[in-house]
Amino acid sequence: MTDIFFETKKSILAISKKFRLNQNAVKEFLEPNKITEVKIPVNLEDGQVEIFQGFRIQHNNKLGPYKGGIRFHHNVTKEEIMALSLWMSLKCAVADLPYGGAKGGIIIDPKILTEAELEKLSRGYVRAIYDLIGAGKDVPAPDVNTNPKIMGWMVNEYIKISKEKGSKLPENLLYATFTGKSEKDRGLAGRTEATGFGGVVILKELVQKLGLKPEKQTVAVQGFGNVGQYFAQFASDSGFKVVAVSDSKGAITEKNHQFKALDIPLVLKCKMEKGIVSGCYCVGGVCDLSRGRPISNEELLELPVDILVPSALENVINKKNMKKIKAKIIIEMANGPVSYEAYEYLTKKGVVIVPDILANAGGVTGSYLEWKQNIENKKYTKDETLKMIEGIMELAFDNIWNEAKRLKTHLKEASTVHALKKLLGDN
Ligand code: NAD
Repeated sequence: MTDIFFETKKSILAISKKFRLNQNAVKEFLEPNKITEVKIPVNLEDGQVEIFQGFRIQHNNKLGPYKGGIRFHHNVTKEEIMALSLWMSLKCAVADLPYGGAKGGIIIDPKILTEAELEKLSRGYVRAIYDLIGAGKDVPAPDVNTNPKIMGWMVNEYIKISKEKGSKLPENLLYATFTGKSEKDRGLAGRTEATGFGGVVILKELVQKLGLKPEKQTVAVQGFGNVGQYFAQFASDSGFKVVAVSDSKGAITEKNHQFKALDIPLVLKCKMEKGIVSGCYCVGGVCDLSRGRPISNEELLELPVDILVPSALENVINKKNMKKIKAKIIIEMANGPVSYEAYEYLTKKGVVIVPDILANAGGVTGSYLEWKQNIENKKYTKDETLKMIEGIMELAFDNIWNEAKRLKTHLKEASTVHALKKLLGDN
C-alpha cells in the first residue's frame, strides 16, 4: 500500500524546491508537531469489551489552534491521518483562517456498532484526548462517518469532564471546542450549505477572471451528497447550466447532448423518493425520464461539458481517464479527486483546475464561524454566515490567483506555495 503521507510530503517538497523555498524549513514544517495514539475500551451490548485504536495528529499551530475533523473508518491509518492533518494546515493557511491543521480518526466500521455503542466510543475518544483539545488549543469537527449528532455527544462529554475537573471556563468557550454541531448544540446556521456554497463563490470568481458568462457554461457534478447537492443548487441559482449529476449508483443527463439545465430542487425531491439520482431527469418543473439518459459515473466525467465538479471521492480523474476529460475547468470539491499525474497532464493541456485546498475551504470557513460565534456568545443567521463565507472565499481566491500570476504557474502550486510562505513565516 502506498504511504499517502510520504507521497504528499514528496510532492510538496518538489513544489517548494521548484519555487526555491527553504528546504530545511519545509522539511521541518511537513512533520506533525504531535502524534497521539489512544486506546478506547468500549463495553459492548453482548457483555464483551472491545478496544478501539484512535489517533489525534496535531500538525501545525503557527497560525492558530489546531483544526481538523475526526474520521470513523475501518481503513483509517496513522499515515492517512497525518496526510489529512498536513492538508488541513495548508487549507487553513490558503483561506487565511486563524487556525493550524490537525486530524483525528478511529479504526472502526461504525455500521457494526449500535447507536448506544457508538455514543460510548465517541465519549471514550474525548476522554482519551481531553488534555489535547480546547477552544484555544485544538478544535475537532466531523469528517467521514461522523456527524452533528456525534459532535453533540463529544461536546457534551467534554463539558462534563471539564466540570468534573472544576473548570471555571464559561460554557460558550467549552462549546467552542467542537464545530459541526447541530444548531441545538450551538452549531452554525448555514454550516450544511457552507462547502458547496463556498465552491460556487470560487467558481463565480474564476469565470469572471476568465471572461466567461455563467449562463453559457454547462456543469457536471459528480456526487449528490452534502457537497455536490449544494454546489449544484447554488451554481444553478447563479445562472450556470447544471446538466448532469450523479450519486454512487449512477448519473443522469440529457439524451442528445442538448444539455438543458436540470431543475435541481426537483432532482433532489425525486432522488429522495426514488433513492437514486439516475432515475431523475427533471427540467423546468417536470421529471420525465424518457427525455433523460442514465449514464455511469465514468461517463459523467467524460461528458463534453465546460465545467466538471468532482464532489464525491478521491482519485476519480487519474492516469486511466485523463485523456478523455473534455471539460476546460475542474473544481476539486472532493478531497484529492484529481491525481498528481492527471493534474499535470490536464493543466499542460490548458485545463484550469481549482485545487481542493482552495475549492472546498468553505467547509472549514463555516467551522471557523461556528467557533467564532461560540466564543463571542452570538448566533449568526444563515444569511450572515453565507455573506461572511463569500467574503473570505473571494479574498482567498484573489490571493491564490495573484500568486499564480506572480509565479507563472497553476493554482495548485500557487496554493501550496502561498500557504507554505505563510506557514514558514516568509511573507
Ligand atoms: P456525502 O457522503 O454527503 O456525499 C457523497 C456523495 O458521493 C453521495 O452522493 C454518494 O452517493 C456519492 N458517491 C459515493 N460513491 C460514489 C462513486 N463511486 N461515484 C460517484 N458518486 C459517489 O459526502 P460529502 O460531505 O458531500 O463529501 C464529499 C467529498 O467532499 C469528500 O471527498 C469530502 O472529504 C469532501 N469534503 C466535504 C466537506 C463537507 O463539509 N462535507 C468539506 C470539505 C471536503
